[in-house]
Amino acid sequence: MSESQVLTHKCPNCGGPLLFEPKNQKFHCEYCGSTFTEQEVSDFEAKQEAAKVTDDPTPFPTEHDKTNQTDDFSTDETADEEIGLFLCPSCGAEIVTDATTASTWCYYCHNPVVLTERLSGKFLPEKILPFQIERKAAEEQFLDWVGKKKFVPKAFFDKKQIQNLSGVYFPYWAVDAELSGRISAQATNLRVWIVGDTEYTEHSQYEIQRGGDTAFKDLIKNALKKNLSDKMVGAVQPFDMTAAIPFKNQYLSGFLTEKRDIEFPDMKENVEREFRQYADGLMESTIVGYTSVSNLQSNQQIKSLDEDYVLLPIWLVTYKEAGNDRLFYYAMNGQTGKVAGLLPIDKKKLWTVAIVIFMLVLLLGIIVGYLLS
Ligand SMILES: [Zn+2]
Ligand SMILES: [Zn+2]
Repeated sequence: MSESQVLTHKCPNCGGPLLFEPKNQKFHCEYCGSTFTEQEVSDFEAKQEAAKVTDDPTPFPTEHDKTNQTDDFSTDETADEEIGLFLCPSCGAEIVTDATTASTWCYYCHNPVVLTERLSGKFLPEKILPFQIERKAAEEQFLDWVGKKKFVPKAFFDKKQIQNLSGVYFPYWAVDAELSGRISAQATNLRVWIVGDTEYTEHSQYEIQRGGDTAFKDLIKNALKKNLSDKMVGAVQPFDMTAAIPFKNQYLSGFLTEKRDIEFPDMKENVEREFRQYADGLMESTIVGYTSVSNLQSNQQIKSLDEDYVLLPIWLVTYKEAGNDRLFYYAMNGQTGKVAGLLPIDKKKLWTVAIVIFMLVLLLGIIVGYLLS
């Protein structure tokens, strides 16, 4: 891997690693305490890049040349399948990643690294929603939330677990659509009234037609296979997509990022069906005031469909019980703070309470029995 494909954003002041700070939406150096805007970081890096090109037109041979050579022969497609092996630009250690990892931490020097080759070409995200909620707030909210639940095993929220709480940018498709459609139905109204001894029934039949254009914005669909079965990334929706900005990889600094492995054409049919159902639903909701509606027919044409590859922020901690394959989790929307989770239950705690309640009931039973006798 050439170093340009693995990147740690450096402090323009001291060269230390820069971290994105949700609190002020700026970039912070933990070494010298400086703070920079996205513009300042981009300007600095553009200048560095220009200096590199003029100073050093032929790349310096490095000890990693062997890996570079093999990389030259691998295409994007095969690289996607592999477990990634990258070299940390700060300490030179090997960073082993999942096939979908796009930003992570160096295990050895703990510098944030961005794997830019996994965020380029067709994998370049169109938009990103930067984290708004910072780590400390996410931790506090997690403890607060777990604290309110009973029977959660201690191991789910101990110190080690809290360290595992990670800010992750997950990949999604954000889909806009315009439809033009029509629905038709038959409806009846029944009116009954009595005059003297006679009951009258009036039966009215209606042919109903509704037609028009509908437009939808930012239908969010998961784009990561390993999240398909897990509700965690869906449960914290919605995101406010109006706050999404054009993608810049600086925002990933200090967070984990997953690259998509679900392509839009694979879900297109389902997404279109979903839009048709929404359009039908909107039109159906205008058919009101009838005794009954039947024979509903619809025809919704998709006039335009536009998908954007976006990265959305989630704070996440997962937990697996010993001897149990079930994945428990706590997830928080990194923009809005909406929380969802599937919590493990500590059976020992539950049993203790159940036994105490049983004893109380038994005791009451004995007392009542005694009083009645
Ligand atoms: Zn610095
Ligand atoms: Zn390192």
